[in-house]
Amino acid sequence: MPDQQDLREQLVACARRMQASGINQGTSGNLSVRIPGGMLITPSSLPYEQMQPGDLVALDLSGKPLLSPEPGRPQRRPSSEWRLHADVLASRPEVQAVLHCHSIHATALACHGRDIPPFHYMTAVAGGYDIRCAPYATFGTQALSDGVVAALEGRLACLMAQHGQVAVGPTLDRALALAVEVETLARIYLQALALGEPPLLSSEQMEQVRHQFRTVLYGVASAAAS
Ligand SMILES: [Zn+2]
Repeated sequence: MPDQQDLREQLVACARRMQASGINQGTSGNLSVRIPGGMLITPSSLPYEQMQPGDLVALDLSGKPLLSPEPGRPQRRPSSEWRLHADVLASRPEVQAVLHCHSIHATALACHGRDIPPFHYMTAVAGGYDIRCAPYATFGTQALSDGVVAALEGRLACLMAQHGQVAVGPTLDRALALAVEVETLARIYLQALALGEPPLLSSEQMEQVRHQFRTVLYGVASAAAS
């Protein structure tokens, strides 16, 4: 387990890679990583290019600050979605990192409240037959968090109606890679819908994909199969 300074640096670096990947819009994206007793989370409304490791906020999973700020440094406010991050980490012990963003294509689908069905084999990368869309609720609320935790059951990613997407993983890099994949799938699905609803793979075909992930692409499999 890296120490907290290492994790702080990794989290800032991952936030900047999220920005560079194009899936973040403004300061709407946020990231967290598990630490003993709680999490580190990106602060509210601070552009990633200005963010320093000391700007990250350490909270326990009920939202209480874990550390007092360094002398002379104001305590940042955590992301307004801290509750969602905390609840996912609390309910999924195997998850180490949580990423939330408003990537364009995933959010466009989510604006219609649509799941991503098994129209393409890579849908299985999120760990199941489909990628669910959590129902709409006001940002930052317990209702939104509850909906996301339910939509993530047996999955590593979900959409959020009229809002965005969440991806989780055993590391920050894996959560980011999955969020980029969900965005790519959403983009392909929107293109495919131009010719009408595409045919779907069967549950048996998707199970074979998951088996193939586990046996051929072990690096993906431990994300997809957990
Ligand atoms: Zn959001």
